[in-house]
Amino acid sequence: MNRCVTLNEALSLGHLFIISGPSGVGKSSLVQKLLTESDQLKFSISYTTRPKRPQETDGFHYHFIDQATFDQMVLENQFLEHATYNHNSYGTPIPPIHNWVKQGYGVILEIEVQGAQQLREKQSQLDMPMHFIFILPPSFEHLEERIKGRGTEDPDKQARRLQIAQHELEQADTFDVQIVNDDFDLAYENLEAHIHSMLAAKEILD
Ligand code: 5GP
Repeated sequence: MNRCVTLNEALSLGHLFIISGPSGVGKSSLVQKLLTESDQLKFSISYTTRPKRPQETDGFHYHFIDQATFDQMVLENQFLEHATYNHNSYGTPIPPIHNWVKQGYGVILEIEVQGAQQLREKQSQLDMPMHFIFILPPSFEHLEERIKGRGTEDPDKQARRLQIAQHELEQADTFDVQIVNDDFDLAYENLEAHIHSMLAAKEILD
């Protein structure tokens, strides 16, 4: 790991970091910490048709919209990628990402695996370096506990999230990097180190 340069210094080129992993794995906490550690990182706020949870803020966690508006945005090609997850639609808007990448920011997308796959397929057409990171739970039981303990959804929806998680975990090795979130501080250190080495590798290739 190159510790001579700070995360801010290393992020002089626009990069896209696609962070994926099953629901309940702790992606959001890791991403929030990354954002507080570097003002050269931006978070892509997705659009979703999922109902807002009580602790969420519209325009900060997501842009909450109805299905008709989402479908219209799809028709107008306003998304870099979009997917259906647990009967709700989620999409990454193009304009903020283009602006930030042009300005040299690292942009973090916290998305599920279908969206990551779409970006992988589009990689050669899009003029921005992309890095694919997958966050793993220490065990499936651990994930189960987290999703149930969170209590944000009814048991049917929780069960569906766990079913999706099983399928998502099978795709972990299609990502450039896998990080196990057992101990939060260790997982964060690992994530930060990988971001450093991805940036360093890109600079060498350039
Ligand atoms: P949640 O409903 O728990 O907020 O999110 C469900 C899943 O959708 C999570 O895995 C989350 O990372 C993912 N997600 C959030 N925004 C997007 C997006 O814009 N595109 C895609 N493909 N997935 C998203």
